[in-house]
Amino acid sequence: MKRRKNALILLAGGTGSRMGAGVPKQFMELRGKPLIWYSLNAVQRSDLIDECILVSGKDQIRTAREITDRYGFDKVSHIVTGGAERYLSVVNAVLALMEKNGSCECAEGAPEIILIHDGARPFLTDEIIQRCLDGVEDTGGCAAAVPSKDTVKIADESGYVTQEPLRRNVWLMQTPQVFRSDILCRACRGILDGGVGESGHFADTSAITDDVCMVRMITGADVKLVMGDYENIKVTTPDDLIIADKILEAQIGHFT
Ligand code: C5P
Repeated sequence: MKRRKNALILLAGGTGSRMGAGVPKQFMELRGKPLIWYSLNAVQRSDLIDECILVSGKDQIRTAREITDRYGFDKVSHIVTGGAERYLSVVNAVLALMEKNGSCECAEGAPEIILIHDGARPFLTDEIIQRCLDGVEDTGGCAAAVPSKDTVKIADESGYVTQEPLRRNVWLMQTPQVFRSDILCRACRGILDGGVGESGHFADTSAITDDVCMVRMITGADVKLVMGDYENIKVTTPDDLIIADKILEAQIGHFT
């Protein structure tokens, strides 16, 4: 049986301000390669991904193109300019991938499944991708996450604890976040319509920090969490680069 077509949106459109390094974190070097190389390499080597849309900040489009050309990452079919927020970068990429003539209609031959992955997460594996693809069969929406090892509290602006979620129900979100393309297109359409949800409500788009949030807010679709990997870290601050280097050291041979 022929499997469905899967496309992956790789997000590298952020400024990386929390890294405090002049260059966005996804283009900083880890063991001689730009951070973004690691997820591009995982995508290029994976039999589970057919096509990749790379999102880059407008000042890094040339660098992004140089990286894909230099390393022969020919699954990258488009390089798209990012938006002001992460979810707007996703909308730009979905439009590039799916749209015909300025609308968000699903095009002939377009992918049926879209995976969204942070360019700042270098340790993507086929095992994680496969778990996400299995999960998306059940609901149409699925994301990699790991159970929280720590107890989590919700506090108000003054630091007073207001909620104590049960630890066994708390997950830390990772990527890929994976959707049937029709569901993701519906969510993007709601965003383009000014954040109008499908039941007519106005979504609080300022609260959107990931794709699961965007899709649930606009479409109300069910999303399932599957096991990511504790090593599937996002490099956000300088200490994360040290941790990433250690993970890479332990995995040496895997990326060569
Ligand atoms: O800011 P955060 O760490 O959540 O970013 C996660 C990923 O989303 C990063 O790889 C970053 O480059 C990307 N991003 C983007 N467009 C934005 C903001 C973030 O593509 N406007």
